[in-house]
Amino acid sequence: MQHSVLISDFDGTMTENDFYKLVAERLLPAQALEFWQEYRRGRISHFKALQNIFSQLRAPQKVLEELILDMHLDPSLAKDIVCLRKAGWKVVVASAGCQWYIDRLLTGAGLTIGPQGDVEVHANPGTYSSGTGLTMTMPEDLQFRSQETGVHKAAIVHYYLQNAHQVAYAGDGWTDVDAAMLVPPHLRFAKADIKQALDERGEQARIFTHWSEVARTIVELE
Ligand SMILES: [Mg+2]
Repeated sequence: MQHSVLISDFDGTMTENDFYKLVAERLLPAQALEFWQEYRRGRISHFKALQNIFSQLRAPQKVLEELILDMHLDPSLAKDIVCLRKAGWKVVVASAGCQWYIDRLLTGAGLTIGPQGDVEVHANPGTYSSGTGLTMTMPEDLQFRSQETGVHKAAIVHYYLQNAHQVAYAGDGWTDVDAAMLVPPHLRFAKADIKQALDERGEQARIFTHWSEVARTIVELE
């Protein structure tokens, strides 16, 4: 059977808080977010902004592992992914953030990662050392790579539009807009910044606050 696929952003979508905001608030000097302002002004890429912010981290790894728990992954995520699978939906994460914390949080919730696992993850690879910080690199897979964000969310949606029964998208940020626009409005889930961007274009979406609402809505569509 051809699956339907829910493609989801991670930071701020599956979680309450973004990793880059938490580390900037708690572990980095105030000027660390200047890279983010440079990105918002269009002077550097989203990837470069995050890469530069993450490279300044020097906390012990244990501190970072505790901090990611405060991203507050949706507590019913694992249960919801099982319900989605029973309803014929596969869940794919498409994140312009870093695999280092995404994999930890998802496996910590008891989920297996991979094309045949509970959840397929496309995120920028990263390694951590308290000497050099979180080193984030471009994804190796050229098919889903973008100079702007590393992982190319819209390319992932394109791929599944060709290879899945139907595709839904959920996101909360500016990097989600192009990907979300590729799916039909009744399968487009928006929160925060992306909602504003879609409103400005006169585009419709289903509004959500917690990821579990996305999962329940999709299951009820069937
Ligand atoms: Mg996000």
